[in-house]
Amino acid sequence: MVQGDTEHLDFDDFHLEPARPAASRRAVTERLVTKRLEQRSPWNSILRWCIVVLICATATQEMAGVYYDRKMTAVAREISGNPDLDVNCRRVWDELLNLKGNDGFVMWGSTTANLGFPICIDAADWANDPTDGDKRIAIMILTHEVAHLSGHFNESETECVAMWTVPQTAVALGATADDGVAVARWYAAEYNPLLRADYQSPGCLNGPAPPSPMLR
Ligand SMILES: [Zn+2]
Repeated sequence: MVQGDTEHLDFDDFHLEPARPAASRRAVTERLVTKRLEQRSPWNSILRWCIVVLICATATQEMAGVYYDRKMTAVAREISGNPDLDVNCRRVWDELLNLKGNDGFVMWGSTTANLGFPICIDAADWANDPTDGDKRIAIMILTHEVAHLSGHFNESETECVAMWTVPQTAVALGATADDGVAVARWYAAEYNPLLRADYQSPGCLNGPAPPSPMLR
């Protein structure tokens, strides 16, 4: 047993503060959070919303792109008779690299036709508005690129093949062959003569159809 002086504790010496009510602590916390939000730059919110909008726009365009890819690919395969052909409707980010501004192109040896996104939209909607000039040109560009993939390399010859084949394109898009003939005649008279010299094909529709695996 240890003996000695026993320290005497006087609770009055501690000067304990009374406990802070819970409601008061919450008020302090909320004030701190509010202050932090006030200090945050408005650019953080703007940047965050820009990212959200960009993601939504990208996802929407990709869904639309897949739809048009399939629709144009189905037409390309039908008019060429080649089940291996594909059409790629270029997305917005593809256009950033499309420095030449081509509406359509193919790579030699490839089985894929690349079309500008607006061309795919116009071609897909042509049957609803068969006399619209932009939409007529769109289905001619589609048919022209498919003609390249079918073995036609010379541009003038490819234009002529496209004019002869566009009635098949019209049928594949849900219109009649006569609607396609009207497109070919309009194109031959109004648009082909305006193209670069090596694309022009004067008298194409006056002569016999050019030999082509597309024409059946
Ligand atoms: Zn061409």
